[in-house]
Amino acid sequence: MTKNISVLGSTGSIGVQTLDVARMHGIKVSALTANTSIELLEDQAREFKPDIVGVVDENAAKRLKIALGDTDIKVIGGEAGIIAAAQYEKANTVVNAIVGVAGMLPTLSAIDARKDIALANKETLVAGGSIVISEIKKAGIKLYPVDSEHSAIFQCLQGCPEKSLKKVILTASGGAFFGKSMDELKNVTVENALKHPNWSMGKKITIDSATMMNKGLEVIEASWLFDVEDKDIDVLIHRESIIHSMIQLKDNAVIAQLGTADMRIPIQYALTYPERLPSPAKELDLSEIAELHFAKPDYETFKCLALCREAPKKGGIYPAVANAANEVAVQMFLDEKIGFTDIAEIVEKALSDADFDKKNITLDDILWADKETRIKFRR
Ligand code: NAD
Ligand code: MG
Repeated sequence: MTKNISVLGSTGSIGVQTLDVARMHGIKVSALTANTSIELLEDQAREFKPDIVGVVDENAAKRLKIALGDTDIKVIGGEAGIIAAAQYEKANTVVNAIVGVAGMLPTLSAIDARKDIALANKETLVAGGSIVISEIKKAGIKLYPVDSEHSAIFQCLQGCPEKSLKKVILTASGGAFFGKSMDELKNVTVENALKHPNWSMGKKITIDSATMMNKGLEVIEASWLFDVEDKDIDVLIHRESIIHSMIQLKDNAVIAQLGTADMRIPIQYALTYPERLPSPAKELDLSEIAELHFAKPDYETFKCLALCREAPKKGGIYPAVANAANEVAVQMFLDEKIGFTDIAEIVEKALSDADFDKKNITLDDILWADKETRIKFRR
């Protein structure tokens, strides 16, 4: 089957790199979407000639419609544009590169339309893991991880018999503030927090890396993707981001996936699986790197990581609460309304305030918890 993709969030860090991979391998792009940034979206549309382009912001959609007036490309505004792209008939794979829980309903729409999914949007699984995984099973579609750690685990698992997995070892760079004390973290600036040591990414995930919320979200993401319990997931600080993650098998053999820090490797694998095609990513030269370092995470200073590991144990809705509180807090930090350490405080308060003991949660429960948490903490 020829690959034909729809890229949700095409103007972001993962979206742009997905289009690099598509360009290199001549993968057909049938739909593109973005929130605003229509100049870039127009360039992408002119290059890849999709049939439809979705723009969440209605005014931006109107402007893009005029700009693309000389083409046959259909521009659809609002949430409807995202859903149309997620379900577009000609696409067989949907790349979800939207940031935040805004990506969850589009994922469910794509599953509903029986599209395979290349998932970068980890918030989909954090907030809605139980529902998303059960819908995927019912629809019989494939879910390919794009997050580098989860792609690494997926790559390591190739050829391993089912049930041979004992443990997942998620590596973490430690973000911009590794080794800092709580006191030192109190006065860090937005500019400092946005300086990731190894990866160039969107702002939200870069802040999540600095608080280590990102690794917490990834623990939950891994638990859904690989059906492993929290106790069987280790987080290991590895500053160089060369080993993207590891698995330990029942016989205690450990398998790791290594590479330069370039998201186009996991994106490409998600799109061309099981093929291994040439990549624009640089070759790895271990003799040049010479040393790899490992350490335990500091769960006390980087409280978000600990909070994310506790949230699912409190009940199915709590990861959605932690995620919503974090999304609101990160935006407030970026807007310089709160300090860096307030992010963890807000996530902690949201989790301790939430009161919900229903066992089998529904999509409505998740949407409700997300909305209530945002209303409560947004300033
Ligand atoms: P980004 O901010 O660079 O891009 C986000 C994209 O989503 C943009 O195209 C934007 O227009 C669109 N968007 C934003 N809000 C939206 C909304 N409400 N509805 C629809 N579209 C919206 O983000 P990113 O760094 O590319 O990250 C995207 C996702 O991939 C995140 O979930 C992130 O955690 C995950 N991820 C990113 C990286 C990375 O290297 N950037 C690595 C691993 C995982
Ligand atoms: Mg990651």
